[in-house]
Order: sequence, then C-alpha cells, then structure tokens
Amino acid sequence: MITTTSVEDPREIICELCRHFYALGWASGTGGGVSLREGGRVYMAPSGVQKERLKPEDLFVLDESGEVIEAPADDALRVSACAPLFFNAYRLRDAGAVLHSHSMNAMLATLSSESELRVTHLEMMKGIEGIGYHDDLVVPIIENTAHERDLADTMAAAIEAYPQSHAVLVRRHGVYVWGRDWVAAKTQAECYDYVFEAAVRMRQLGFDPAERPRIGPRDPSRTTH
Ligand code: ZN
Repeated sequence: MITTTSVEDPREIICELCRHFYALGWASGTGGGVSLREGGRVYMAPSGVQKERLKPEDLFVLDESGEVIEAPADDALRVSACAPLFFNAYRLRDAGAVLHSHSMNAMLATLSSESELRVTHLEMMKGIEGIGYHDDLVVPIIENTAHERDLADTMAAAIEAYPQSHAVLVRRHGVYVWGRDWVAAKTQAECYDYVFEAAVRMRQLGFDPAERPRIGPRDPSRTTH
C-alpha cells in the first residue's frame, strides 16, 4: 500500500511501487519494472530479480546519457533489460517516471491484428492527461521481440507517431506507461489498466469498445403506448 508517510527517496519509492505492482499481478515472475528520474539521475531495478523483494541498495543509478554511475554492491546484478525502453520515455517525452507492467489486462487487450487499441466513452479515460470522456483514447501496439531491449526502436517510433499517448502496448507482453512524475505515472497506469480490462470484457460481451454509444431520445418509431 502506498502511504503518505513514505520517505520521498527515489530508491524507497521504487521498492514500494514494485511491491504494490507485484500485488496487482503486474510484476510477477520477475517481470515488469519501475524507473524514476530525479535531479538528472535515473533510478532502476536490476534485471531478472524478484521485484517484490527489491531493496533500496539493489538499484542502479544512471546518468541522463544512460551510463551507470552507481551500481549495487552485488556484482552479479545487471541493469534492467528495460533500460533502453525507459530512456525512450525520458528522452522523447521528458518523463519523470516510467512503469512497465506485465498485467494480464494489458496482454489480453493486444490480442487482435490491429496496430492500436481504441476506446471511447469510459469515465476512467479522464485519468489520462489530455483525454476527456467524449474523446477517443488510442494506444499504439508494437510487436513483441525475443529480447526486451530489441523493442527500443519500434517503441520510439510508436511514441513519435502517437504524440498524445502516455503508453505503448507490446503484443502478447504488456505495456509501458510514463508520467511527469511517479504519481502521474502510477495514476495513468491504473487508468490504462482499467481501460484495457474494460476493452477485453466489452469484446467478450459483444460490445465494440471503439464504438460511440448512441445517445439522445429513443427512436420514436419503437415507442410503445
Ligand atoms: Zn516485459
């Protein structure tokens, strides 16, 4: 649980968010991740570790060019395979925090042949910066690769092609979400996850999540007296 008494130390926040996201099923099996940028320093977890057991001293610190400036004492640890993906959002969107989730909802939402996910008229869309209830929320979907680092170029292209998006979905894999700080990134990740689940469940129920609902008075020809 995220508490207001949390020390605002980026290392502590990353550990707390990793435990929280693990509990949500977003970071099981060492998957997923969190990265924060503060004061020209980028903090991120090592690759392939149990995210819910992460300790502040396990984190890597990189400079804004991507060079490691502080490494954990345990030299068996390697910097996150997500590093080039996190840096896409830092460089192209001036993000303050980036989250990577292996949420089942995100994964299932990519099961189509489309190159984007489009939804509209869902209250939770309003949690995404720049999006209102009546808008279309569009999230690009990029194809997965055998190695996480190989997603970097296609993710960068998707970020450029969808300037309004704060997320990129990865087919049969998960999602990257960013925000101006960790609070915005977390809020948006939660809203996106809700929308992904809504899209999946609406399709199951026979609704098209991209279709605008019909509003206004009922068709008078169908009125019964
Ligand atoms: Zn991943």
